[in-house]
Amino acid sequence: MADLVSLSSFLFIYFLSSFQDLLFVNGEPNNKPLTPINYDLYHSSGNLMDEIKAMVHRHPDKLSMETIKAGNRGYGAEIARDNAERPKLRILLSFGQHGRELITSELALRILSILSEEKILPDKDEASLNSTLDKLVIKVVPMENLNGRKLVEGGDLCERRNGRGVDLNRNWSVDWGKKEKDYDPYEENPGIAPFSEPESQIMRKLAISFEPHIWINVHSGMEALFMPYDHKNTTPDGLPLQRMKSLLEEVNQLHCQKRCMIGSGGGSVGYFAHGTATDFMYDVVRVPMAFTFEIYGDGTTSSRDCFKMFNPTDLASYNSVLNDWSAAFFTIFKLGPHQLGEIQSKASVFKLDKLVSIDEYLDGYLMERRNRYGKKMEVLELGMQEIRTYYRLFLLSSVLLLCMFCSRISKTKCSRPIVSAIPL
Ligand SMILES: [Zn+2]
Repeated sequence: MADLVSLSSFLFIYFLSSFQDLLFVNGEPNNKPLTPINYDLYHSSGNLMDEIKAMVHRHPDKLSMETIKAGNRGYGAEIARDNAERPKLRILLSFGQHGRELITSELALRILSILSEEKILPDKDEASLNSTLDKLVIKVVPMENLNGRKLVEGGDLCERRNGRGVDLNRNWSVDWGKKEKDYDPYEENPGIAPFSEPESQIMRKLAISFEPHIWINVHSGMEALFMPYDHKNTTPDGLPLQRMKSLLEEVNQLHCQKRCMIGSGGGSVGYFAHGTATDFMYDVVRVPMAFTFEIYGDGTTSSRDCFKMFNPTDLASYNSVLNDWSAAFFTIFKLGPHQLGEIQSKASVFKLDKLVSIDEYLDGYLMERRNRYGKKMEVLELGMQEIRTYYRLFLLSSVLLLCMFCSRISKTKCSRPIVSAIPL
């Protein structure tokens, strides 16, 4: 099921999401006791979703909630319908695609608390925040892999896959199923086919219907800001690269103290990931800015100690991660639209000296879409004209041939051979 929440001036969707984190070797000898989930800091999956539902209940003027079901899997998602006549820039965020990365869903809750104005973002001017958000439609999936998360809460602290052992960030169709030499089914099982899992099916449907301008798949295991591609050691080039890279560099400088790795997932993380959500969003859904964020990782921890490896375990680190990354997301809410507008203006035949506002960008975007469809209709119309012309020529030729044929025989016998000749 998916619980959907919406805000009057913004749009939020809550659903499940994930991406790549560090893979590790299982069975490493280690006698140290494993770190249990710290429920003084972390919500249980049930409590987290309940808290979001309560938040929606407290803000009926701003938020609404919807539950989506697929197969035998449950999802929480939140969708807000935007009634504004003005087009808005659409942002799709996904958290908790991997069960063991609890901190990501905590971040989703924090972002929603700020969006609902129950919590404040330090050092943020409220008026400018509202002005920024007024131009956006944001959909959030706070816990994409609810069943996998429940396995983690049941004691399998290293589980990242869904409730039947499939890695939801390997189940997408771009370069699906390719296995590297170090392939480990415990970590990366891609499923029996692309989109074999209900979680991936829901996410694909949501992405295709929503057509986001920005997609962010939030994970943990390291600190990184990735852009496509995950399945190869290259990034897109030209303007798409320019706009994604400059936004990530800004976020790295402002919120990650330049610690975060930036680059393609495949080129930076140390392994290629095939069939990921972000590669699908970029290549198939054509999301202009598609990212995977890795928000926390403890590389000094034993790879068996998964709660500690993927999640901060003390209050100071927990708060620091949530404060830094919620601020990072609001920077993206603010800069992302401008970035798209700026690139749009540079790509335009009519170069503009100033930064194009998001309204201008969206107007241009709509115009481009209309033109695109308009051109299609034009091509179709030209094609129909050609068919009509050929058909007329064919009829004329047939008539001439008939006349020539008939002129050689008597009028009384003329029709018979013609009729019988048709099947030949
Ligand atoms: Zn992950």
